[in-house]
Amino acid sequence: MNHLHSFRFNAFSEQTYLLDHGNGEATVFDPGMSSLEERFHFEKACKTLGVVVTQCLLTHAHLDHVMGTAWVSDTFGCGPRLHPTDETTWTQAPISAKLYGIDMDELPTRGEDLGKQGTEISCGDMKLEIRLAPGHSKGHVVFVCHSQKFVIGGDVLFEGSIGRTDLPGGNPDVLAQSITEQLFSLEDDYIVYPGHGGPTSIGKERASNPFVNGAGTGMLQQ
Ligand SMILES: [Zn+2]
Ligand SMILES: [Zn+2]
Repeated sequence: MNHLHSFRFNAFSEQTYLLDHGNGEATVFDPGMSSLEERFHFEKACKTLGVVVTQCLLTHAHLDHVMGTAWVSDTFGCGPRLHPTDETTWTQAPISAKLYGIDMDELPTRGEDLGKQGTEISCGDMKLEIRLAPGHSKGHVVFVCHSQKFVIGGDVLFEGSIGRTDLPGGNPDVLAQSITEQLFSLEDDYIVYPGHGGPTSIGKERASNPFVNGAGTGMLQQ
């Protein structure tokens, strides 16, 4: 994917993505840059690409996905946009940071709430469709780009795995339903860029994911 750049940040090996709109602007997804080095690296990548971040979108608000939101807000002037049903995850993030003994900036003021299922967000000429995909967190969303056939998937579906469901707001049955209805309804050649690990395709996970698959034989489907 030419326009999508990935970064692995923080103690949780979280994947942050930067989508170059092709017009000098860019969207950052799940900014997890937590150290000076990570922030410097990200800013340098933006300069090299010649883009300014104008939009910050969150799949969900777990600690590892929001650690860079205050810095992004300060540096680029855009507050993170979250689905309102994930509000409790957002307010929990600094408390989780304390429990883990991790230094975290105070959460910034959020941008406009993400809209309902099917709402489209513009990234230059590209459009992203919001799909609600709860089960890992209560208000988790995925962003689907149909023209370029990719998904910013957060912690729903990983290569050969799925998001954990033992955290507050998690529910294995709901997660299985989200994967089946919101992701497996896409064609095989859509690429999923997850919140942890490398990209995978809908076709590959539909065929062989051990937790949720197209044959209905996954561990969450029996
Ligand atoms: Zn998560
Ligand atoms: Zn995560």
